[in-house]
Amino acid sequence: MYRKTITELAAGLRAGEFSSEELTRAFLDRIKTHDQQLNSVVTVTEERALEAARAADRRLKNGDGATLTGIPFLHKDIFCTEGVRTSCGSRMLDNFEAPYDATVSAKLKQTGAVMLGKTNMDEFAMGSSNETSFYGPVRNPWDLDRVPGGSSGGSAAAVAARLAPVATGTDTGGSIRQPAALCGITGIKPTYGRVSRFGMIAFASSLDQGGAFAASAADAAVLLEAMSGFDERDSTSIDRPVDRYTERLGEGLSGLTIGLPKEYFGEGLTAEVSAAIEAAIGEFRKLGAKVREISLPNSHLAVPAYYVVAPAECSSNLSRMDGVRFGYRCDNPGDLEDLYVRSRGEGFGAEVKRRIMVGTYALSAGYYDAYYLKAQQVRRLIRDDFVTALKEVDMIMGPTSPSTAFRLGEKADDPVTMYLSDIYTIAVNLAGLPGMSVPAGFVDGLPVGLQIIGNYFEEGRMLNTAHQYQLATDWHTRLPAGFA
Ligand code: GLN
Repeated sequence: MYRKTITELAAGLRAGEFSSEELTRAFLDRIKTHDQQLNSVVTVTEERALEAARAADRRLKNGDGATLTGIPFLHKDIFCTEGVRTSCGSRMLDNFEAPYDATVSAKLKQTGAVMLGKTNMDEFAMGSSNETSFYGPVRNPWDLDRVPGGSSGGSAAAVAARLAPVATGTDTGGSIRQPAALCGITGIKPTYGRVSRFGMIAFASSLDQGGAFAASAADAAVLLEAMSGFDERDSTSIDRPVDRYTERLGEGLSGLTIGLPKEYFGEGLTAEVSAAIEAAIGEFRKLGAKVREISLPNSHLAVPAYYVVAPAECSSNLSRMDGVRFGYRCDNPGDLEDLYVRSRGEGFGAEVKRRIMVGTYALSAGYYDAYYLKAQQVRRLIRDDFVTALKEVDMIMGPTSPSTAFRLGEKADDPVTMYLSDIYTIAVNLAGLPGMSVPAGFVDGLPVGLQIIGNYFEEGRMLNTAHQYQLATDWHTRLPAGFA
C-alpha cells in the first residue's frame, strides 16, 4: 500500500479495495516499525487519526469527498494543531498546545486528509540538517549516519521512507527543497503569499512559506492545491484563485526554455552532483525543451543578505516567547527580568540564540542602516536578477544543494559551512519565487536533487515540468533499502 501514489490510493478507497481506516493503520504501523531509526515523527496522533479515518470512510461511502479524503499525511510541527502539541522542535514549546488550527491544518482537516502526527524539525526552522531539534537529530533513510537536511528534515525523511504518502513543510531559505533533495523526494515551495502563514509559527515572516513533500510531482500537486489559497487572516496572503495544479499534468514540454545560471555551476558544487544535474538537463532536452545559459549576477550576495534579514525578523518574532504567554517558564523566577532571562536562556537552543543575537544587533540603532537596510537593498537586486532572467527563459534549473547528504555532526560546529548548504535555495525566498526539488539521480547511493525555479504563480507549470521528467525517469520511484 505504501508504494502507491495518491491517485492510486484515492481510487482504491473509492473502489472499496481498502478503507481509510485500514490505510491509516498501515501507515501507523510503518511509523511504529521504522521511526525508531529515523526519529522523524515527534508526536503520533493515533487515536485522532483513526477517528478521522472513520469519518473519511463515511464521507467516501456517501460519494462525498476530495482526492485527499481518507489519505494519511504527516504535518510539520510548526503548524498549529488544535488539541495536539505544536513544539516547533523547541524546548520552549515542548508543552505548547495551540488553542486553534493553522489555516493549513484547518484546510487539510476539512478536505478529510488524515493527520498521522507531527514531524521533527530544526528548532524554530533554523537549520539545514535537523540537528538543532530539541528532540534530537533526524536520520536520513538512505544512510542513517547522515542528515536528512533541514529544517523540514522530519517530513522529508518520513516521506522518503514512506511512513506517510505526503507531508507538509515550510521553507524560509530552502527548508523544503534542500531536505527533499537530500532524501530523494519531491518538494515544492510555492510563491510567497500562496499558502497562508496564519498559525504557522513565524521564523522570518517575509520569507516563510508553507509547501508540500511527496514521492512525485503529481502527488505534491494534490497536497499543494489543498494547502493553497487566500486567507484574510494573513496580511501577506494573495487574493487570487488557486490554479488547478493537477489539471496541468498532461502538457508537453516542447517550446519550454530552461535557463541554467552559470553562478550555480561554479565553485562549491561537487563534480558528481554537477554531472547528475547535467544528465537531468539532457532529459529535458529530449523532452523538447530548449536550454541556455543565463546569469544571476548577484547570487553570491544571497547568503549574506539572508543572514541579516532572517535573523532580524526572527529576533522580532521570537520576542513573544518570553516565559509569560507561551510555553516554557523557568523554575522559581526571582523577578520579572530573571523570568525573561532564564526562561529564554533555558528554553532556546544555541542556534536560535545565535540568530536572535545577530538579528538584534543588525536592528539596533546605529547599525540598522549599515546592515538591515543594506541587506534589503541587496535583496531587491537579487529579485531583479530573477525578474530579468525570467523574461528570457520560462524556468530556471540547477542543483538544489551543492552536495549530497553530509554526515551527522560534520557541519554542526561550523555555522558558516552549514549556512552555505543553502547557497542555491536562499535567493528564491529573497525573491518570493516558487521553487521545487526533484530527484535526479544518485551519487554513491545518496540522492541528488534538481532545483526548478519558476516565475511567480507558475507552480502548475513547474509541477507539470517535473511530472513530465518523472514520466521519463524513475529516480523518484526508488526506495531506501531498509524501508522498501
Ligand atoms: N537553512 C536555512 C536557515 O537555517 C533555511 C531554513 C528554512 O528554510 N527554514 O535559516
